[in-house]
Amino acid sequence: MVKFFEKWFIDKNSVSSESEYWKTLIFLSTMFFCQCLIILEIIISTIVGIQNDFPFAFTFLAFIIIVFVYKQTHDLQLSVNLFLFVFFLCLFPLSFKSGGIYSMDLLGMIFLPIFAFLLGGNKSGIFWYLVTVVCSLVHYYQADKQADLFLNLKSFGADYYFVLDNSFFFLTAMSAFVFNYLNNKHVKRVNDQKAKISNQAEDLRIAQERVLESNRELEQYAYVTSHDLKQPLRTINSFSSLLERDIKNNQISDETLVYLEFIKTSTENMNCLIEDILAYSQLNMDNDEQFSFCSIEQIITKSVNNLSGQIKNCGANIEMKNLPKTKLPLMTSRVLQLFQNIISNGIKYRVKNSNPLIEISSVEREDCWEFLVKDNGIGIPKKHLKSIFQPFKRLHSSQNKFKGSGIGLATCLRIVEQHNGNIWVESEEGKGSSFYFTLAKKVNPHAEEMNLPNNIKFMPKLA
Ligand code: ADP
Repeated sequence: MVKFFEKWFIDKNSVSSESEYWKTLIFLSTMFFCQCLIILEIIISTIVGIQNDFPFAFTFLAFIIIVFVYKQTHDLQLSVNLFLFVFFLCLFPLSFKSGGIYSMDLLGMIFLPIFAFLLGGNKSGIFWYLVTVVCSLVHYYQADKQADLFLNLKSFGADYYFVLDNSFFFLTAMSAFVFNYLNNKHVKRVNDQKAKISNQAEDLRIAQERVLESNRELEQYAYVTSHDLKQPLRTINSFSSLLERDIKNNQISDETLVYLEFIKTSTENMNCLIEDILAYSQLNMDNDEQFSFCSIEQIITKSVNNLSGQIKNCGANIEMKNLPKTKLPLMTSRVLQLFQNIISNGIKYRVKNSNPLIEISSVEREDCWEFLVKDNGIGIPKKHLKSIFQPFKRLHSSQNKFKGSGIGLATCLRIVEQHNGNIWVESEEGKGSSFYFTLAKKVNPHAEEMNLPNNIKFMPKLA
């Protein structure tokens, strides 16, 4: 039977909870049961030949229409109320003929608030309860005219039956209300637990994704260490052999010095790469650094000072404007690293024979500060605007003049994420790039206020 209703009438997508599913099932089986009763009554009264007052044909048709309405709309509340309305249309007129305030049909109306509270919700429960009270009042005021019909019952008096009927109506309606209330409470508790479990599942999924991501990064690490580190090693190896040959043959010349220079440069490159990889991996592992309220202007000035050698060498201009006056909760050494990486890239990826111009500014947003570091460098092709934030992604590695490890921007992305922010870039090739990033105003509300210490750590970045 359940399978039958499930297959033909219940649309699982429109039934949002288990409780709704059971309510639908109870509603449909009640309709089915009523239909069976009507058919049985018709058969019996035809066989026995009794004249019955009940409007069988009307009720039968009305129930079929209601089932049809439910199948079309899947609106349980509407269908239940329609059902109760038909129920009311049958019983109320009948109760006039069968004894008014003394009638069993009037008492039968207790099913209206019961069904309404259980299946249609509190509003329709209260409505149908009031309907039953009004019906009993109507009969109570007409009680005397019907008195001769039920003389034996009248001996108790209309008042007695009015109180009795209303006590039944009230008690049954209250029981249904309490049942519905407890059921809703239980459903809420179950739903809360489900939400908690699904949140935990989501956290697990995110954690798993992080592990997978970190595995992918590890694979890239392995690739870089085996590929990028091998390159300078090969250079060192071959030039050391040449050096060894020259020394053995006692043929030290200008060329020997060139070999030495190659070895030195390769060693420096290797050192930078190893340092960048180390610093990037530390960023992932070492999350102990505390947030403290710091002046971002101080941090930017410090990062520009750290790059003063590079700035002087290429005659770069650094302009700062509209920087936040308030202190922000930051991991100071990391934010210093962030600015330093982006500014040094602006200087590094400059157009040949031109003086780099770096403009640093900020705008206050509702819950964060948005920073812009704009340069007038070589720019970035549109298709790479996202990928450059991946570790080891380098666009200009074939051009020997731009040295680097491809970890700088990945480091920036990680630092910005640790400050609940975003980072993105807009760029036009040949005209320059604009790096935007946000730093949240509230990352850790318990951060202590502090000034930038002089001995602040920072990671060196390849020039
Ligand atoms: P790298 O050590 O190579 O500089 P980054 O992660 O800092 O590594 O940058 C990744 C790549 O993005 C660089 O190799 C470069 O091609 C490109 N890039 C970064 N910043 C700029 C910029 N300001 N202008 C042009 N290209 C840039």
